[in-house]
Amino acid sequence: MNNQTILSPATYLGDYRELLQGFLDEGYAFRFFGEQEKQEGEVILRHDIDFDTHMALKTAQIETDLGIQATYFFLLRSNFYNIFSARDFDQVLAIRELGHKISIHFDPLIYQDFHQGLSQEIEIFERLFKEKVDIISLHRPNEFFQTYDAPIHGVEHTYQSKYFKEIKYISDSTGVFRFGHPFDSEEFAQGKSIHLLIHPVWWVMQGVSNLDKLRKYYEQRKEDLKMDFYNNCIPFRQIYEKIR
Ligand SMILES: [Zn+2]
Repeated sequence: MNNQTILSPATYLGDYRELLQGFLDEGYAFRFFGEQEKQEGEVILRHDIDFDTHMALKTAQIETDLGIQATYFFLLRSNFYNIFSARDFDQVLAIRELGHKISIHFDPLIYQDFHQGLSQEIEIFERLFKEKVDIISLHRPNEFFQTYDAPIHGVEHTYQSKYFKEIKYISDSTGVFRFGHPFDSEEFAQGKSIHLLIHPVWWVMQGVSNLDKLRKYYEQRKEDLKMDFYNNCIPFRQIYEKIR
């Protein structure tokens, strides 16, 4: 057995529905940012969408089945997806229709003036979705932004102390619970409130490890790209058969 096929609790995240059910079984209630009021018994469930609106819709459906609400943050300037494309736009709308909140996943490092950058993105997002932006999450925040406690352009963000330090923060970044599974945390044992960041890609893709999931996801995206070429470029059809 090689390393990649060993199922260790750290690498194998398990089933998403079971994760959520685990919180419900302990009596946790799911709250939006700004609505969490107690230091006990509440989960703020956050999704930073780095890759794919389709997978976000899948986790959104599971949450709605369980009566859970989450906040989905979308990049406006991603290389991986495009909320202005008809398909991705419809998927974002579908997520909202399921009862979840949608907002901006903001990359401050692509702007010289991040206040102005956010102001532009808010204007575009609000016009596109007719949705007020009152909380944003930051994409790959560096040290500076992880300790940046003030709102940006008057809008709260998920790395402010009240969400990042004053309640327990647990993330599946990189596809593992690097600092331990939420159910093994002291805070969960004591029923304390938790800010949980989930990236749908790690839960929707099936695989024995984060690398296995990534490999499969990459292959799937290549196939999707091929079909987009096929459907949008007639000369491509002549080479399609050769690169299958
Ligand atoms: Zn991100």
